[in-house]
Parts: sequence; C-alpha cells; structure tokens
Amino acid sequence: MIILNKRILKSCIFGVFAILISVGVYIKYFTSRCILCNSHSIKRYGAYVYPFVLDRAFNNDKNVKTDILYCRKCDFSFFELRPDNTAMAKLYKDYRGVEYQKLRQMYEPEYTEKFNFDLGHAAIKERKEHVGKILNKVCDISKIKNVLDYGGDEGQFMPDELSDCNRCVYEISNINPLPGIKKITSYDELLKQEWDFMMLCHVLEHVSDPAGFLKNEVLPLLKRGGILYIEVPVQPVYCSMDGVCTTGLHEHINFFLKKPSREYLQKIMSLKYSTLRPQMV
Ligand SMILES: [Zn+2]
Repeated sequence: MIILNKRILKSCIFGVFAILISVGVYIKYFTSRCILCNSHSIKRYGAYVYPFVLDRAFNNDKNVKTDILYCRKCDFSFFELRPDNTAMAKLYKDYRGVEYQKLRQMYEPEYTEKFNFDLGHAAIKERKEHVGKILNKVCDISKIKNVLDYGGDEGQFMPDELSDCNRCVYEISNINPLPGIKKITSYDELLKQEWDFMMLCHVLEHVSDPAGFLKNEVLPLLKRGGILYIEVPVQPVYCSMDGVCTTGLHEHINFFLKKPSREYLQKIMSLKYSTLRPQMV
C-alpha cells in the first residue's frame, strides 16, 4: 500500500527500452531490462499461460507463450507477455459476470459462484478501517469532497469516514454500486471532476504498463494536493533453481513483492509517498 501526494509532482521521462513486436492479438516484450527500474539485472524463468486466460483472451492460440522475469534490483517480477488492449478487453469483459464465471469454472472447477462472490467481499470491514486509519493520519478528512475508487466494484471498500462525500466508482463491469455511490463507466466523465481522494486497489497487478497507466490515466484525474491510495497484493512467485516457474500467467501479470518495487512506482511518478508498507489482503 502506498500513499502518494501530488503536491510533489515533477516531470519525469520514462525510458522506452523494450522492442515491441505485435503478434496476432497480443504484444510480447523481448526485453532484458526491468519495466520498472530499467535494471539489466534480470533473471528469466520459463512460465506458462493458464488455459482459462489462453481461451478467453487469446482465442486458444497455442503459440501464445511467456517467460517470467525477475528483477534483482527492485524485487519486481513480471510476465514477458504483455496483453494488448484487445486481449485485455476480452479477458475483462463482464468481469466476474455469469459468462466469465462459467468459463473460468470450466477450466478451474474450484472457481464456483460462491468463490467468485467471496473474492469481492472478503475482509471488507478490515480494509475499510485500514484506509480510514491511513486517511486520518495523512489529512483532514473533512476537506475531502470528491472520492473515486478506480475499479472499485460496488464501492464496498470505501471507508465510512467518507460517507458524506461525493463517492464514485469507475467500474466497467455490470455490477450495481451500493446505495449512495455513483457508478461511472466513461473515462471522459472522470475527467470532468477533480478528485480529492482516489483509491486504486488491486489494479496495478493486472495492467500491462503499470508505469504508463499511473502517469497517463490515473494522475491526470487527481486534484493538485489530492491523495492517491494504492494497494497491491503481496503475492509470491514460485520459481525453481533450474529456471522453471510454477506461477502461471493469469490475471496478475505484475508482482510487487517487496518495498523496492513499490518505491520504484513512486519514483516513476516523481511523487513522494507518505506511507509505504506491505499489507496482506
Ligand atoms: Zn527492477
């Protein structure tokens, strides 16, 4: 979890370092550098794509393969295969809806309707309280007027302290927001508002270009002096000494394992973080 304050925003140029080759419906990076810190200190492991993802996003194209790369410098791991917008749109269409759930359960029998529901409703109280506690530490909550949870599902993770604010979720799935929370489905509509407080929880591990996404899509929405709360899972990657990884490519394609990789997120945006610590969710 990282809290960032836009007051310290400075311009930043993010180096282009990967040769992009478009093959069919996906983009593969052939890179020997870390996509976060640009380090060459990379270890490559053989990996695989989960059959569900291969079907839903890549039309079961058996040529779609990937390695996973580990950066020794910033403790960041990422799949070399970076799904493009088309593949992402297929993968996340009606996310966790009926069709998604059925196909996923066909490949992964443990992914039942109950499991699907529980994923979005686990530890709600604890997570809300945690965000509320952080907010109380870093700002005067009474000054927050406009709140956006980017990819925020029903808005169930917004802390109670913000109940009187204009609360919105940016959500492209068919889910209905909780009472008192407005659902926004268009990015252009988000731009019409300056957001005092934004939540970005469990999103960055899914996106193909986390640095570009933060700089080009998230930060332009934040009011000057506003607060951005980022939460990513601490998800281990299992690789053996002989170069084989048992963690396959599923929805998570980025693994911010330890503090250094999170610090690089902050560095990329040239923002100062107020709080930074891993949190198991
Ligand atoms: Zn790195």
